[in-house]
Amino acid sequence: MPILAVASALTMDSKSPIRSWQDELMRIESVMAGRITVPLHRPFVTAVRRTDHAESVLVQVRDADGRCGWGEAAHNPRVTGETSAGVIAAIDAGLRDAVLGREPLDLAGTCRAIASAVHGNTSAKAALDVAVHDLAARQLGVPLRVLLGGTRSTISTDVTLSIGDPDVLGEEAARRRSEGFDVLKVKLDGHDDLQRLRAIRDGAGPGVRMRVDANQAWTPQEAIRLITAMEDEDLPVELVEQPVPASDLRGLARVTQQVMTPILADESVRTASDVIEIARLGAADLVNLKLAKCGGLGPARAFLSVAEACGLGVVIGSMLESHVACGAAAHLAATCDYVPDLDPPYLLRHSPVAGGIRTDGPSIVLPDTPGSGIERLADAG
Ligand SMILES: [Mg+2]
Repeated sequence: MPILAVASALTMDSKSPIRSWQDELMRIESVMAGRITVPLHRPFVTAVRRTDHAESVLVQVRDADGRCGWGEAAHNPRVTGETSAGVIAAIDAGLRDAVLGREPLDLAGTCRAIASAVHGNTSAKAALDVAVHDLAARQLGVPLRVLLGGTRSTISTDVTLSIGDPDVLGEEAARRRSEGFDVLKVKLDGHDDLQRLRAIRDGAGPGVRMRVDANQAWTPQEAIRLITAMEDEDLPVELVEQPVPASDLRGLARVTQQVMTPILADESVRTASDVIEIARLGAADLVNLKLAKCGGLGPARAFLSVAEACGLGVVIGSMLESHVACGAAAHLAATCDYVPDLDPPYLLRHSPVAGGIRTDGPSIVLPDTPGSGIERLADAG
């Protein structure tokens, strides 16, 4: 497995745009992958884990003309069932061969080849899929969001507060509010949940809105009791995400039907088929689309079409990932009125790449340069 070259060996692709549909120089001639680890500003704590870094696998596809497309496998063993070693093994086992020699602009064919190359391994597939979309946009000379059908160049996101003591959360909420965030995502785990929400509301001040993510921590009965209590106290909670275990769709449906607060399915929904089942059971009001769960921008199109047809709202979410994967999700979020939940750039100490998305307060700014706008690996140090 080739490892990504050092930063100095990778340069921004500045080749002329599209030549011809059959040009050999347009075809993908190499696929490289390598692990990255990026430290966080502070530990990220949820109901199921605590970590002080984001770990993933970066993927780079290159055409014969030297243009590069970038992707990232933002895996999580508890969500996608993958590890860095597994992602690289899946690339070696078939994903690399699925794209080598293909024209990136044959997106439908390439997405089918990626989907059928290996079973599962959705974050590995997403990395290849996103890298090919990035390369296709560069060959056309347009930003990735334009290839996907969007024209907006900025989106606004919430920012996540990790699980912590109420007084610490209150201070953190005040700090984030002073940075311009009006929407705070709050991780809860079944301990002091209402006290934490009150502390965040009081710390953040009037006008703040909260999105609660229990990461499967509650039983349906606990969820109904807690969410009803939030409503009775008039806490400014605009949605509750994955209150119960992922496999308990009937329990999720019970919660959705017995509370007024909108319920968002995350771990319970990965693919377009899952969206259909969520809709059939009335199990949620919204579904959380993450490229690492569904397998990339190609499968995301089916997911979004089904969600829209079923009348479900959509949140575009992210794993604990770097600017590469989050950037692709931001380009997708810019294509419609989806709810962006894309805060990794605010949690990581630095980007592993130069170019691509940047932040301006709570806004994520998308580049106007071709593709993802990623130029090269960031300089070390
Ligand atoms: Mg979640």
